[in-house]
Amino acid sequence: MIETFEQFLRLTHATSALIAVYDADDRLRYANDAFRSVYFIDADETPLWPDLMRRNFELGRGTVIRVADFDEWLRSTQSRRGKIGFRAFETDLVDGRWLWMTEAVQKNGWMLCIASDITSLRADERSVRQDRDLAIKASQTDELTGVANRRFVMARIEDMLECAQDGDAGCLAVFDIDNFKYINDRLGHHIGDVVLRDFAHRIHQIVRRTDCFGRVGGEEFLLVMPRTILADAIVIIERMLSIIRTCRPLIELPDFSYTFSAGIAASQAMDTVSDLYRRADEALYAAKLNGRDRACAA
Ligand code: GH3
Ligand code: MG
Ligand code: MG
Repeated sequence: MIETFEQFLRLTHATSALIAVYDADDRLRYANDAFRSVYFIDADETPLWPDLMRRNFELGRGTVIRVADFDEWLRSTQSRRGKIGFRAFETDLVDGRWLWMTEAVQKNGWMLCIASDITSLRADERSVRQDRDLAIKASQTDELTGVANRRFVMARIEDMLECAQDGDAGCLAVFDIDNFKYINDRLGHHIGDVVLRDFAHRIHQIVRRTDCFGRVGGEEFLLVMPRTILADAIVIIERMLSIIRTCRPLIELPDFSYTFSAGIAASQAMDTVSDLYRRADEALYAAKLNGRDRACAA
């Protein structure tokens, strides 16, 4: 077995296919020579995926990123990266090459990436395929905040419940910004939008790759936490409450702060998406009644 594995590793360095493995924190744990060469990674380096993408973007190499704002690109991509079992897409490099990239994700969050060079294949239909990929991305992204939208996040609840037979599929949290109508009325709808974006961006930064965070409408957001027990979900959300409570997002109003409330529900055997959502929503209602700026568990 070990001999086979060592032989396998040697062979990965002999192929022109790109092979890499990322762990659940999105740190590169293995990459063959072809992968390291295409993405400019030294032999002993194990960068985090967002750091690697940012470095290459700043140096004008690696993946082509067609937006001026790297963070906006990162948010939208991270909101969808590694959340489903398998993805495949075309991606192009600054040097003009095209890759067919596949990502396979295990339940524990580890990801295998394999890509091959398709520069010479069906190039004439490429713009049609790119338009299709952009349309898929738009259909999964919330326009105002750039995180996942309702459609994408609801499908991840469905996945989470499907995966578990015994009911311990994970937890769902519903977030709702407190007194948001008052923020809009007092400071204007435009500042309301700034606060919505601030909330989405701050929470997004601390969401684990195996979790899915998205906006479902208005000032309401969902966090799907597969294979997470209630006690751990509470710790995660308490941290988020504290980050939002202490932030001061408006430069022109340095004293302005805001809060949100959260309802958390752990999945039970035979739960449907709407059962779980309803319990999380009831817990949110309790958090509001108990004074806001807090989390309640169903
Ligand atoms: P609570 O603490 O009970 O949640 O009070 P609230 O004022 O946050 O709750 P309510 O649901 O009454 O108000 C939500 C407001 O959010 C009403 C609506 O005008 C505003 N809203 C919904 N979508 C958007 C949006 O995209 N941008 C802005 N600026 N406001 C929005
Ligand atoms: Mg609301
Ligand atoms: Mg609200």
